[in-house]
Amino acid sequence: MHEYHKAVEWVKTASAKAAQSGMKKVKTLHVTFGESSGYSPEVVKNYFDEAAVGTACEGAEFDVKVTRSLLKCPKCGKLFEKKLLDYKCPDCGVEGDPTESGNEVEVTGIDFY
Ligand SMILES: [Zn+2]
Repeated sequence: MHEYHKAVEWVKTASAKAAQSGMKKVKTLHVTFGESSGYSPEVVKNYFDEAAVGTACEGAEFDVKVTRSLLKCPKCGKLFEKKLLDYKCPDCGVEGDPTESGNEVEVTGIDFY
């Protein structure tokens, strides 16, 4: 259900922004989903469409950007993509530490009509 709550939150946020800007309709939400966030963009969009009925967000589109999970090598500091069952730095072969990248679920921008 976390997708539902996120969708409702975004409808509220975008509608409030539209009202503040004196705009009637939200055209596009630019959103970022981290691949490790556990959120499905499609599911959030479905809930968003439901929650948006009768609001400034009705009919709004998502512009989805998916971010990769990055690990940071504790030895050389290199950032590298996490691969399935492979957490090792390509240079040093030591296991990387998790970073925030890949866990984000956020609205980065909103376009209005
Ligand atoms: Zn390294």
